[in-house]
Amino acid sequence: MLNVRKVRKDFPILKTGIIYLDNAASSLTPEPVLQKMLEFYCHYRANVGRGIHHLSQKASEEYERARTKVADFINAKSENEVIMTKNTTEGINLIASGLKWKKGEKIVTSLIEHHSDFIVWLRVKNNYDIELKTVRPKGSVEEGLLDVTDFEKIIDDKTKLVALTHVSNVLGVITPIEEITKIAHEHGAYVLVDGAQSVPHMKVDVQKIGCDFLAFSGHKMCAPTGSGVLYIRKELSEEVEPLCIGGGAIADVEHDSYTLDKSPRRFEAGTPAIADVIGLGAAIDYLQKIGMKNIERYERKLTTLMYEEMTALPNVEVYSPDPEQKIGIMAFNIKDLNPHDVALALDVSANIMVRSGHHCALPFIRGLLHKSGTIRASTYFYNTEEEIDKFVSALKEIINSLVE
Ligand code: PMP
Repeated sequence: MLNVRKVRKDFPILKTGIIYLDNAASSLTPEPVLQKMLEFYCHYRANVGRGIHHLSQKASEEYERARTKVADFINAKSENEVIMTKNTTEGINLIASGLKWKKGEKIVTSLIEHHSDFIVWLRVKNNYDIELKTVRPKGSVEEGLLDVTDFEKIIDDKTKLVALTHVSNVLGVITPIEEITKIAHEHGAYVLVDGAQSVPHMKVDVQKIGCDFLAFSGHKMCAPTGSGVLYIRKELSEEVEPLCIGGGAIADVEHDSYTLDKSPRRFEAGTPAIADVIGLGAAIDYLQKIGMKNIERYERKLTTLMYEEMTALPNVEVYSPDPEQKIGIMAFNIKDLNPHDVALALDVSANIMVRSGHHCALPFIRGLLHKSGTIRASTYFYNTEEEIDKFVSALKEIINSLVE
């Protein structure tokens, strides 16, 4: 059960009275996660996988326990499919640089992607002479809905990879990822899912989706900054070259050769962000205790409320599909006001944090929406209906005082 009043007490920053609606950029961190990290630093602060002494053994145990928690959380078949990264961007780059590309192969992506799931493919296209196809949303650009039939037309036997966001960081729109994955697999293509905006807000099951790779960030789901995950389906772990190699990643080394270890170790060279990974494990415990279904249900309610209240405001342009098709994010502009001015006014006048700008999605914002930027309000399970009401009241005041 989600008791919002109760969970809010776990977030020290909320005691300062802020209204935090910038969760798509990064979430807040609850006390149990902070405590778990402190436990590592105070009681078993040592390196992992390297020492025989009991501190190192305990640190390694906690580190690996976090990996098992992640595997259960996304329903991976094995914890060996879970690679610890520092964020979504690193996970996507690992796949881009690690797959063995051949001239003439094709990558399919979309125009609603975050730069982290877009410019990496431009680089692959340029470096290896790969064809890059970008699917644009069907119908109204402002709704951002991707149509499965467009992917049916574009994905063919030359396609090596389909790389798509699960939830757009600009519109919150949910991509029909399962259907697209099926089409990709019929053509022998791999599917990479950018789960940065889905994994924190809904139950994401890699076996149900059937994807080959899933990248997401811990810092958007109550875990510390510096924690992220890349899921690589077991059968593909040797198909992907690691981004870094070195200590911790090897099975054997001779003076003129080396053999890499199996996944996940082959992908985790060097000392990892141990406290952050252990913190990620605690964040998963925290989310599981509330229940991802409860989180999703509650957030959908908040999104609908925000949509209804904001679309009723004069001079506000809301970029959104029907709330049924989205979660957690509302992008908008107020008449001709600069989005940064609106964000600053919300902060100064009402202690409300939102994001403004192009949200690392220029091909969408500038290319399709024809805007220089938008304001983005994004919720999490600790936001309340009263906060949404206060946010809408603050917008009304800005409209009354700034719009001519
Ligand atoms: N993809 C999407 C959809 C995102 O929203 C973000 C973060 N805004 C990223 C990728 C990149 O995440 P990170 O900065 O944690 O690597």
